[in-house]
Amino acid sequence: MLTFKRGVHPPDEKSFSAEKEVVMIQPEVGEELCFPMSQHIGAPCKPTVAKGDYVKMGQKIGETTGFVCSPIFASVSGTVKDIRPVLTPGGAMSQAVVIENDGKMEPVEGLNVPKDYTKMTNEEICDAIKEAGVVGLGGAGFPTHIKLAPPPDKKIDYIIVNAAECEPYLTTDYRIMLEEPERVVRGLQVVLKLHPEAKGVIGIEHNKPKAIESMTKACEGIDNISVATLRTKFPQGSEKHIIYSITKREVPSGGLPADSGCIVDNVDTMVAIERAIFRGRPLMRRIVTVSGRGAVNPGNYKVRLGMTYGMLLDKVGGFTEDTAKIISGGPMMGIAIHSLDTVMTKTSSSILCFTEAESQLPEERNCFRCGKCVSHCPMGLMPNELNKAAIYGDHAGFIEFNGMDCIECGSCSFECPAKRQLAQSIRAEKKIQMALKAKQN
Ligand code: SF4
Ligand code: SF4
Repeated sequence: MLTFKRGVHPPDEKSFSAEKEVVMIQPEVGEELCFPMSQHIGAPCKPTVAKGDYVKMGQKIGETTGFVCSPIFASVSGTVKDIRPVLTPGGAMSQAVVIENDGKMEPVEGLNVPKDYTKMTNEEICDAIKEAGVVGLGGAGFPTHIKLAPPPDKKIDYIIVNAAECEPYLTTDYRIMLEEPERVVRGLQVVLKLHPEAKGVIGIEHNKPKAIESMTKACEGIDNISVATLRTKFPQGSEKHIIYSITKREVPSGGLPADSGCIVDNVDTMVAIERAIFRGRPLMRRIVTVSGRGAVNPGNYKVRLGMTYGMLLDKVGGFTEDTAKIISGGPMMGIAIHSLDTVMTKTSSSILCFTEAESQLPEERNCFRCGKCVSHCPMGLMPNELNKAAIYGDHAGFIEFNGMDCIECGSCSFECPAKRQLAQSIRAEKKIQMALKAKQN
């Protein structure tokens, strides 16, 4: 079975929500939705509306300000109540447009006008994807139109649909593959039109046999698209690791998938591309898994972007009294959120409610050099040494041990018998390194 070297096997915990069909959640009339201008990697957008303006659903409310940027759209119609800083799931503050929902869902002109991609040039297709605000919905949030147009010297051989969904608890991609497999395939066909020499491969972990069956059926009769079964292992869904599993090619340190002839896009991103082209709709919604032992009604919910985690939880039964921690994203790579007023953005894949018992962090003990973190690190790093460098502020040592290659997957912390917060310290040191670099430039 296709796999990569090292990695870990956390319990998958997907049974809470895996068999729950996607349910649409609507904001109430009068509720305020917040649209941060920074929902992607790159420069934040600039608001195109002002306080008091009336906006329609699908209207662009945030314009790009740089090359690496992606526009923001209103997911409801209503009045702009404010433009103010709000907290994003990543913990940063971002300027946001606040819209009071009038409940009319009045569409902006031009919404829902499908395009025939077979008659479009590559430039027109990339432009349509850009103008729909599509970014990587697997969590990274990199603007998709940039990824789809690598430099001309990079020949693309594989378009990989990242359907591994290897983080425990998360089931949104799984539900898409069961409920709307043909849309994933149509999105992939659009991307393959840009790279006609490439093969399309949908990589799914082997713990999702129903998704493998559903996607295989949806690909029947299409010569250049196939389904690859991947060994269930974390972090199978990391770009570098899914590329290695499927192609046995390695992305060079500091390089991009295109350096290995690959483009990798998540399942939901393919659906967003399909929606942009076949339905003429920008990115206004996403599916969010609500799960964990503290969630009253675990499930998969389609939400309008701009709603807060608190709004979603209120509408789906909330969480139990013994819930002690709320995580945005998966338990391996996600981030604890400190306020339910945090806004769900394009990259918000899940909200996990953990009980007191599940949230307790075991006490860190001294490293006794067992080497487990090293033997499980999927990037072949020495997390114990990186941890030491991070703790003692040894910035040069951190670089020497290739700390910037860390993908922050958390496998080292998961395996460490001394319960050391390895990934957390490495992540913090990476931020310091980036700040130091920015200062030098
Ligand atoms: S050092 Fe980084 S890449 Fe390696 S296991 Fe730890 S978090 Fe993952
Ligand atoms: S797994 Fe933990 S105890 Fe073992 S070498 Fe790594 S940091 Fe030290």
